[in-house]
Amino acid sequence: MAKPPENIDIVIIGAGFSGLYAVHKLRDKYDIVCFEAGEGVGGTWFWNRYPGARVDIESVEYSYSFDEDLQQEWKWPEYFSAQPDLERYANHVADRFGLRKDIRLSNPVKSLRFDKDANRWHVQSANGDHVICKYVIAATGALSAPNMPDWPGREKYRGEIYHTTQWPGEPLDLKDKRVGIIGTGSTAIQAAPILAECSKHLTVFQRTPAFSMPSGNRPLDEEHERSWKENYSERRAQMLDTYGVSLIEYPTKSAHECTPEEQNKILEEGWASKSAFQMMVAFTDVMTDREANEVVCEFVRNKIRDIVKDPETAEKLCPKSYPIGAKRLCIDNGYFDMYNRDNVSLVDVKSAPITEFTETGLKTTESVYDLDVIVTATGFDAVTGALSRIDIEGVDGLKLKDKWREGPTCTFGFMVAGFPNLFMIHGPLSPGALSQMITAGEWQVDFVAGVIDDLEQDGFLRIDTTEEAEQNWAAEVNGAASQTVHHLADSWYNGKNIAGKKGGFMIYVGGFPRYRDLSETAVRNDYEGFLRS
Ligand code: NAP
Repeated sequence: MAKPPENIDIVIIGAGFSGLYAVHKLRDKYDIVCFEAGEGVGGTWFWNRYPGARVDIESVEYSYSFDEDLQQEWKWPEYFSAQPDLERYANHVADRFGLRKDIRLSNPVKSLRFDKDANRWHVQSANGDHVICKYVIAATGALSAPNMPDWPGREKYRGEIYHTTQWPGEPLDLKDKRVGIIGTGSTAIQAAPILAECSKHLTVFQRTPAFSMPSGNRPLDEEHERSWKENYSERRAQMLDTYGVSLIEYPTKSAHECTPEEQNKILEEGWASKSAFQMMVAFTDVMTDREANEVVCEFVRNKIRDIVKDPETAEKLCPKSYPIGAKRLCIDNGYFDMYNRDNVSLVDVKSAPITEFTETGLKTTESVYDLDVIVTATGFDAVTGALSRIDIEGVDGLKLKDKWREGPTCTFGFMVAGFPNLFMIHGPLSPGALSQMITAGEWQVDFVAGVIDDLEQDGFLRIDTTEEAEQNWAAEVNGAASQTVHHLADSWYNGKNIAGKKGGFMIYVGGFPRYRDLSETAVRNDYEGFLRS
């Protein structure tokens, strides 16, 4: 029998880091329910349990700022926390702030339908819950809808296949196994060195080589921790004033203003800095000038050539077809060095693509590979994927996936015209993954909470954005992107990692301060670009 509908104020979708904070922020004032697909909280850091999974931004930055006691008391064991520590932190926050009673685990949202007469969303979940609410906050994550390769023959493959987001809970015994990993993005680059250590043989199937730099991860030293804890409030505020919500050294000189010796010194410092962002801003013009960018590219290629002993393998690993930073720059713990092991081989699947699964492994246009285990580190239907996979119907039957067929549209990454009272956190065309996502997410949740408070105080029943505002925002987003080298790579940033996915660059690269300023200005100007009624 169908469950009776529940009437509440706000549904939050997702109990990842932004969703958890939204629960904390809103629950005292409003009736809320949070639906989560996973069996536990933590979002990205719940799902991504593959060996080697760890954050590539320093944990002292990549952590919550909303509670002073929490940030003072929590101890990060390492500079770059591993997945178990991040998941432990998410669980600690859920327990410490009593968030669990409002979170329904293993219960993904299936559909959202807006009743324009009642100004209410109807939310249906996989477990048959039907919630009628005023507002929906989609904290569904930018990298949460896995991309599975669809080569034929999967059903006949007799070995084991794991996508990196669906890693088994029990440790795998791989010591006598031939393992293949498909992909060389951030995920594969973290997983591969560990798989190489614990398997009989690892074959890496590479379509596009990646730029990666060493994380220099190590136990967090007390002095570094103390200096952060003594200055947290000041540093968090400073972070929000930086381009990527991260305290890195911002450059003052163009690559063209430096001698080759100066360039090299700056790049060596960047290489040792422990931050991928640092390489992207080694000079003022890395992301805007092909020649300046090429200086950084060649520096990294030479590092690869220095590390990898076999020159042919080294050359295959050197990215040459796109500018550095145009795809997400990776951070690794011994990725290139791994290729010096006897039990690792590299296969180029750009020149000879994978065509099918066989009973015993994979077939490319040139060869057959026998594998006991296949790891698909093939990434995500990013940014829009999680929302597009929910059946969302706005006013007059408008479906979100139809509206976004040619690419996402929205205002400030928060709202889509025709979908009133639905707010996105880290939505498309927001700074998203090009910002430090926990602190940026907190700011976005605070912003949305402020909008909801205003609506309630001023007696409005609904807020929508306009198509004109969406077009203005698209112009701002495209204008910012066109000044950078990002468009010169196919990646999840522009959806070109997914066959047939349309749309342009899906992330706002105008910098967080400008994004924040434009969003806040619109609210101050009596909600310019929004319609309240
Ligand atoms: P990704 O960057 O999209 O990489 C996917 C890889 O799979 C690419 O090398 C891609 O090749 C390859 N691939 C996809 N389909 C393929 C096919 N049909 N045949 C052959 N190769 C194929 O995904 P990801 O590595 O999971 O990382 C996604 C994002 O998650 C990162 O950019 C980062 O933002 C985040 N992340 C962060 C961390 C961290 O904080 N440390 C760790 C992991 C992930 P092409 O390049 O040719 O498309």
